[in-house]
Amino acid sequence: MATLYTLRQVLDKADGRGYAVGAFSARYTPFITPILRAAEATRSPVIVQIAQIEMQWYDLKLAEFARQFWAQIEAVKPTVPVCLHLDHTQPFELIQAAIDLGFTSVMIDASAQELEDNIATTRKVVEYAHAHGVSVEAELGRIGTTDHMETEDDEELYTRPEEAAYFVQQTHVDALAVSVGTAHGQYLVKQPRIDLPRLKAIRALTPVHMVLHGGSGTPAGMIHDAICLPGGGISKVNIATDLELALLAELGRKERLTDAGLRALPAADLKRGQQAVQKTVEDKIIHFLESHHHASDFE
Ligand SMILES: [Zn+2]
Repeated sequence: MATLYTLRQVLDKADGRGYAVGAFSARYTPFITPILRAAEATRSPVIVQIAQIEMQWYDLKLAEFARQFWAQIEAVKPTVPVCLHLDHTQPFELIQAAIDLGFTSVMIDASAQELEDNIATTRKVVEYAHAHGVSVEAELGRIGTTDHMETEDDEELYTRPEEAAYFVQQTHVDALAVSVGTAHGQYLVKQPRIDLPRLKAIRALTPVHMVLHGGSGTPAGMIHDAICLPGGGISKVNIATDLELALLAELGRKERLTDAGLRALPAADLKRGQQAVQKTVEDKIIHFLESHHHASDFE
């Protein structure tokens, strides 16, 4: 079995060095191979992730996802740093199951709760995960959504810097998803923006690694500025929708499939779809995250 990196190990290297590590959603399990190959081809560290709600939408079980992940790792044999991350999850049992299945990072999303409840819920996950050598990402503030894909509601509340510092100090999370203007999904109704002064203010008060959700469709220059803040900015960017759009465009489809539906396509179609996803991931790594060639940071 390949040795994976924890989120903490990956972001400790990336933070403040002028690049971010992409967390790519393998909401169809055939995406795992092109994500790994793109990272390998560009010599970039990479995070493969799946969210609780994506598993519901794409009719995928956690154990099956993990089985596919390890099989594809075995086939691709990546030599760049890889982290396996459970995105937006609420039930403690699902987090425990992911850790048992070899995930090296988990996200507890208790951001819908009041601050002190969010802290208590997150702290319980941190204690368990850290005891198992696994990193934890949490969310403070509410990141909106444009298509209800990653989370179930679209309420949006920006992260408050003083609260972020208090939250990190109380929970000891490794990474914090911050709400600074981006949204989940495809930007159809609102324009993406990133509140840079807010990011700077958060960073001034806490050294926690900052995560940008809703990376799809955000202009590269905006991402660059958020990554390259003096003193360190965003070091992990979640990218989900753009991979699915690349797949559907290549296949000439409008409607999303289930995981099983994609896997049942003719082999030639599946391969074309995977190539389109790989190209998109490579493009994101080079032009958006600027993490290419940074695998050498880990040697
Ligand atoms: Zn998210």
